[in-house]
Amino acid sequence: MRYGVFSDVHGNYVALKAVLEFLRKNGVKDFLCCGDIVGYGPQPLECAEELMSLPGLTAVLGNHDAAAVGRMDIKWFNANAAWAIDFARRRLTGRALDFIAGLPERAENADFTMVHGSPRKPLTEYLLSEGQFSDNFGGWTVSPCFIGHSHMPLFFREGERGVPETDFLKPAVKLRVKGRFMINPGSVGQPRDGDPRASCGVYDAASGTFELYRVFYDVEAVQQRMEELRMPALLAERLSFGF
Ligand code: ZN
Repeated sequence: MRYGVFSDVHGNYVALKAVLEFLRKNGVKDFLCCGDIVGYGPQPLECAEELMSLPGLTAVLGNHDAAAVGRMDIKWFNANAAWAIDFARRRLTGRALDFIAGLPERAENADFTMVHGSPRKPLTEYLLSEGQFSDNFGGWTVSPCFIGHSHMPLFFREGERGVPETDFLKPAVKLRVKGRFMINPGSVGQPRDGDPRASCGVYDAASGTFELYRVFYDVEAVQQRMEELRMPALLAERLSFGF
């Protein structure tokens, strides 16, 4: 099975469409979304509707999703994030709202495990260090474990003699996924690693490989829409720089 893996769409519908088109062109029919479909961006409803009708999708709940549907208190978010969550709350209706509200915090099958933050704290932990990777070891079994939340494309693995290792994922470098791995495919809608292009990956379960891709999308079109909606300026500006 070849999975298109992506995370942190954050209401950026233009970026989501570009990523899905790219993955489909690359023969992907099954998709994994590691959470945060809404928040920050201008089109939460369109993103939710696109994903709820995407055949072959498995998705988990992110912290912004949880807050948008009342499953998490908005007080945990900074002012700009809270503004966008409130915006998403007012946009999400009907089946799209039910879809987000019904997402599980964890998904698992014979090929993968998936959570938004970390296995021990699916909605809140930013998994960025080898120590955290080790501390989460008891919380999952099927490798790789796909995560999101930090918007950083990186991986963790159990190296020689059980020593945890980590590194950033780069495009055009095929990762051999053998042993225990955690993989963050980066963010579709709000990358934070200095590259403004949307981030996603392809996991080939049969050959045990993961490859990262960056996809161009029309950043200015999204920023213009955000301006028209009078969204916080910083949320639009940061898309130009990928931070
Ligand atoms: Zn996020």
